[in-house]
Formats: sequence, structure tokens, C-alpha cells
Amino acid sequence: MTAAKRPRRGAPSGVPLPTLFMLQSPDLATDMSDLKHTRNFGIIAHIDHGKSTLSDRMLELTETVESRKMKEQLLDQMELERERGITIKMQPVRMQFEHEGEKYTLNLLDTPGHIDFSYEVSRALKAVEGVLLLVDATQGVQAQTLSVLEMAKEQGLTIIPVLNKIDLPLARPDEITLQMIDLLGCEEEDVLHVSAKTGEGVPALLETIVAKFPSPKTELENTASTRGLVFDFAYDTHRGVIIYTRLVDGSVKKGDKLKFIATDKEFNAIDVGVFTPEEHSTGELGMGSIGYIVTGLKEPGVARVGDTVTFAREPLAALPGYEEPKPVVWASVYPEDQDDFVELRKALERLQLSDSSLSFEEESSGTLGRGFRCGFLGMLHMEIVIERLKREFNLSLVVATPTITYEVKMKDGSTEKVYSAVFFPDEGTYTDAREPWVNVRIISPSDYVGPIVQLFHDHEVTQKDVDAFGDGRMQMDLEMPLRELMRNFFDEVKSASSGYASLSYQLIGLRDANIERLDILIADEVVPAFSRVVARARVQEEAEETVKKLKEVLPKQQFELKIQAKAHGRIIAAERKSAMRKDVTGALYGGDVTRKRKLLEKQKKGKKKLKEQGKGKVHIPQDVFMKMTQR
Ligand code: GDP
Ligand code: MG
Repeated sequence: MTAAKRPRRGAPSGVPLPTLFMLQSPDLATDMSDLKHTRNFGIIAHIDHGKSTLSDRMLELTETVESRKMKEQLLDQMELERERGITIKMQPVRMQFEHEGEKYTLNLLDTPGHIDFSYEVSRALKAVEGVLLLVDATQGVQAQTLSVLEMAKEQGLTIIPVLNKIDLPLARPDEITLQMIDLLGCEEEDVLHVSAKTGEGVPALLETIVAKFPSPKTELENTASTRGLVFDFAYDTHRGVIIYTRLVDGSVKKGDKLKFIATDKEFNAIDVGVFTPEEHSTGELGMGSIGYIVTGLKEPGVARVGDTVTFAREPLAALPGYEEPKPVVWASVYPEDQDDFVELRKALERLQLSDSSLSFEEESSGTLGRGFRCGFLGMLHMEIVIERLKREFNLSLVVATPTITYEVKMKDGSTEKVYSAVFFPDEGTYTDAREPWVNVRIISPSDYVGPIVQLFHDHEVTQKDVDAFGDGRMQMDLEMPLRELMRNFFDEVKSASSGYASLSYQLIGLRDANIERLDILIADEVVPAFSRVVARARVQEEAEETVKKLKEVLPKQQFELKIQAKAHGRIIAAERKSAMRKDVTGALYGGDVTRKRKLLEKQKKGKKKLKEQGKGKVHIPQDVFMKMTQR
């Protein structure tokens, strides 16, 4: 086993990478272009149903990872993943497994379960032939189980249904097996029962994987060239972009001259290898397998998920790629200090090298200066990117209130897309506004349907359909504005159902919106980062809540601070935060009364002056912006 550690993706700086030890396992030298003995598969499930834990057991059983190096959710390597106990990034790993005297190579992709990362899942599914559909035996089929299953079916993948957590006393294996039979139209014996925790049933699962998943197919039998689908990439300071690829045709050797078809960029394969799950150099990557290619390319934008790599001299046609990810939430991100603008750009470019669902564009806004409008796949995605910018790149940031896309018809007949609340036009300058709507599916125990339905009115929900889901649960199909979904709807549903309800959603298109811009003024000046687009019906409430919250979280200034909310040309809510009294005399020990008085007088004058120049002089620390974007 190698002692080398994978570099943390996106890590900005770095110590030189430790050289990889030669593996002790001779198995890794097995002929890798042996399609018959290769299986590529993913695990899909609702969040927390045990994907990462099941991967752990498979890594152990196949002796891919030495037991002393084993730790829980081993594939969740990012610091944030371990802290939060969630998978953010898909992680490939190659395992060796012996079945009926023959050696097989199993390439597994562990995928994230949170709805924000379904783009990662859709990419993973393009690189495999089969999926394990994992369902928690205490929870049953959940909303996200249905949506990931949809994706797997669309790809025409072979599905093995797996019931997990059968060790738990609350497990209801019989009932939930029936649910899965219903869902997949399979037979009872097709549903495997496992405990990812204890390992029960996992050896049988590995055998089923070999028996049921098809081996990879190649399209061009005897090509002298090669063709690999780029399904992900990472970045390393020293070796540049490292692409994760599924080779469809031909093979790749270290030193081969390759190119990306879409970006038409050539490079030399500096190194080639597989994931164990650390990068393990093999010098060659065979047809049908999953591995990495080190490109040495350091400029942003050259590697794209969904692109095809091929031989530079004998290029083949591109493989069908992926759909571009569509951001659903936007937030303007500015450096707290304008001197960091270039740093911020570099950091975003660097993050994008390993997170292709992140998009950004330069933007500038009066008081905040220059920054970027960034697009995210959801609120969790946004939180994680911001957190990584701060941690991995040490940046102090101003993050505006996140917003979705609006379409506004102006009085002059033109149509504008608005991605940033501060650019939402003034009242009276436009005739119509439209906003995205979503289809939402909620699955919940019927006891909680009442409390959930009570949330609907406040979130502008239109109920479409309610159905019994079996085992005492109900399935509700709704429509609502994306804006309202983003207004904490998911968390509210979770708490109304004591955590039992699950939710998934899909964008369905634009509809008329009754909305307006709400601005926040501090010391008489609009702070663009706090502007937001709000339903007219909620504008008063939102204005009052916001100024109140700002009063709490803003630090005291040396003068009294005016905090106001303004909509349709009027101030509609206001608060005042009293001035702090700076202890200018603190440093003088006792004694000199006249000097003390002089100092106090000076302070008074200073305050007046500050108040006069109040405009733009209020420093808002970055944690205030963060507190304001969180609910
Ligand atoms: P993921 O979100 O699908 O990757 O789920 P994880 O693998 O992170 O597991 C979520 C939680 O369920 C963790 O606390 C695991 O320890 C636990 N878990 C996973 N599988 C089992 C199981 O078979 N039995 C029990 N008792 N707990 C499990
Ligand atoms: Mg996981």
C-alpha cells in the first residue's frame, strides 16, 4: 500500500508531493485492458443512507486499504467533508476482487447525496455501467432516492437494489424490500440485504457486482488512437490539472501526446494511474478503465468536464459529453480589501479547476468595488465554496445576499436578466418580472403532513397532488417559486416533520412574479451586498427583520448608526444602534484630570466629524455579511 497522501484538491500552495512508493500488491500489475474482468459502478442513494460507509467495507474486504489506515468514510477526504460528515466530491477508487478463481478489477465511484451535488452524480453515472441503489432499512425510499434512480435509468445503467442498515433494531427489511420491488419492478431475491456498518452481506454484494454488472464496452475495437471521457478533475500546484477519465476506446501511456477535443488544447501525459484511492502511478491506463492523467497544464479553462481526451496526432470524434451545470443561486463575492481582487480571481480560477459546477464573472458595484458574481448549484454549494475560499486561500470576503435569476421586461421593451439584487430595476422602470419555478416532491410520514401543509401558504406553494406512498407515508407534489424554496423551505419542512420528510426539486421554467427590490442603508448609504429581491407581500416583514438583525450583528461605531430599509422609493423600516464609548482615558493611570477632560472633548469632536462623513465610512466586517446570508 502506498503511504502517499493525495493532495487536498484545490490546495493553493504546497509542499512538494511525496513520491509514491511502489505498491506491495503485485495484483495491480494485472492486465488492465482486460475488459471481461473489469466492472465500473457507482453508489447512489439519498443522503445518509450509507454510501460512504459501504465503500469503506468494500475497500476493507478487497484489501484495497490496509486495516491500520482504515478510518470511517475514508473516501470523504476533503477537510470540510470530514467535518460535516457529508460527501461533496465524488471519489473514484480501484479495487481488486477474486471471484471463482478469477481476478476482477472493480472501479467504484462514491457520489454525494445532497441535492446540490446531483450534478456530480450525473457525471459519475456517465463513467459506469452499473449502480448500487442503496436504501436505508429504517428510512425507506426517500425523495432523493427517486431522483437519482431517474438519472440512472436515463443512462440505461444496470441497477442492483441494496437494503442497508439491517443491523439496526428499527430496520424494517420486509416492508422496505417491498417498496424497492415496487419501485424497480424487480424480484424479492434481487434485493440484497447488507449492513455497511458490520459488513454483513457485503461479500455477497461484491459477488453480485461481478455477476450482474456488465463489463465495459468499447466502441472502436481496434483503434490505434484513444478516447476518454473527462468526468472530473483536480488541481495540483506542481503537476497542474489532473483529469479523471473513463477510457472508452484504446489506452493511454505515460508520455503520450494527447489533446482535449473541445478546448483543442494539447498536452503530454506526464503521469497516468489509478486511484487506490490515493493516486497510484501505473504508467498505463487500459481500455474500459477509470483513472487519472496528469496534464501539467496550469492555465484555467483548458479542462472541461464532459470533454474528450484523444491522441493529438490521431484524434477521434468527441464522445457525448454532459449538460452544462445550471447555477440556481447567485451571490456577488467581493474582496473585503480591494487589493485582494487579483487574489480572489486566482482563488476562484483555482477552485474551478476542481469544481466545474462553479461559475463566476467579474462585476463591479459602487461602494464594494470590483468583485465577482458567482453561480452555485444551491445554498449548500455556495456555503462550501465560500468556506473553501476563506480556508484554503485565506481571503476576507464580502458576500452579498444570494439571489436567483429574474427576467425583467423594461418599459422600453427590452428584456433583462438580473443575477444580482442590486441591479434589479427601480419601481416604475419596468413592466413585468418573471422568476423560475420548481416542481417539488416531498415524502413524509402522514402524521407530519398537517404541519408541512401549514408552511405552504407562507411559501406561495401550489399543491398539485397527494398520494399514499405505502408504509404510512404520503407523497406530495407541489409547485412553488424557486425564490421561496431558497427561503429556507427545506429546513422548515425538515423541522415540521422532526427530520422525517425528504424533498427533491426540479426547475420547471419562468412565471410572472410580484416582486420588488429592497435596499438596506447604513449611515444613509445603500450597502449593495444587503440588497435583495422580495415578494411584495413580504417586503414589510423582511425589511423589519433585516434591520433588526443588522442592529444585532453590526459592531458598535463611534457614532450612532442609522440602519434603514428602503423599498418603492420610501424608507419602510429603521433602527438605530447607539455609539460605543471608546475608552480613550484607559491608558492614563489616575491623575491628570485636565488631560482626561481634554481627551474626552477631542473624542466628542471626532465623533461629530465621523458622523458628518458617515457615508461609506462604516466598516462592515466579513462575519456580518456571513451572518446576514445565514438564516
Ligand atoms: P452517505 O451520506 O450515504 O455517504 O452515508 P454515510 O456512509 O456517511 O452514513 C451515514 C450514517 O449512517 C453514518 O453515521 C454511518 O455510520 C451510518 N451507517 C451507514 N451504514 C450503516 C449500517 O449499515 N448500520 C448502521 N447502524 N449505521 C450505518
Ligand atoms: Mg457519503
